[in-house]
Amino acid sequence: MRLDKFLAASGVGSRSEVKQLLKQKRITVAGKVVTSPKIQVEADSQVELDHQPVNYQTNYYLLINKPKGVITATTDKSQRTVIDLLGAGEQKLGLFPVGRLDKDTTGLLLLTTDGELAHRLLAPKKHVSKVYQAKIEGIVTDQTVARFAKPLTLKNGEVTKPAKLEVISSQKDANISRVIIEITEGKYHQVKRMFAAVGMHVLELHRLKMGQLELPADLKPGQYRPLTKEELASLT
Ligand code: URA
Repeated sequence: MRLDKFLAASGVGSRSEVKQLLKQKRITVAGKVVTSPKIQVEADSQVELDHQPVNYQTNYYLLINKPKGVITATTDKSQRTVIDLLGAGEQKLGLFPVGRLDKDTTGLLLLTTDGELAHRLLAPKKHVSKVYQAKIEGIVTDQTVARFAKPLTLKNGEVTKPAKLEVISSQKDANISRVIIEITEGKYHQVKRMFAAVGMHVLELHRLKMGQLELPADLKPGQYRPLTKEELASLT
């Protein structure tokens, strides 16, 4: 494959960032400085950036700002999926979503080909935290915050682990609260069911964080980008 493809796939940077690194003479192949993105390398070639080995990575990691109205699946007969939002090239990579956001939920979603990482992030024992911003019908009181801070029994009898709930603002006239909620589990419709358990309704739900991974402020709904090396390292 071409050297720029090798480097971009290895998480070193985008194709244009890779070009810059080459121009700056920071890349060596088998110990020799290389400036051309076109030279051919193998998956096991000895490639270094700033004298650090770069290992060819066959997995892909994309972070997408999921918009409303698409489902978190790879294919569907009738509905648009998050994979349908990708360009033709990315659609061929075999990416799948890590976990699930409801059709009307927006925000951070990780798409990857790395089954091992997905398994680790979703394993109940790992308690990877998820942070959401939510618009709630009703006024969220200190009492609600205290109830969320302890195990909470859902309507079907399931019990959730304590969750951090913070009220950002309340509009008494409109009967609306805006909150940030952090949970460490991934039960089906968990946030909506937690609010339902205290007699409240989630009007909007938007994921801001999963583990150390944060939704970049400049990533618009429907936009996506590869994880940076640092972001990937923070998850592993
Ligand atoms: N909790 C929910 O209820 N829905 C989501 O999409 C994510 C968490």
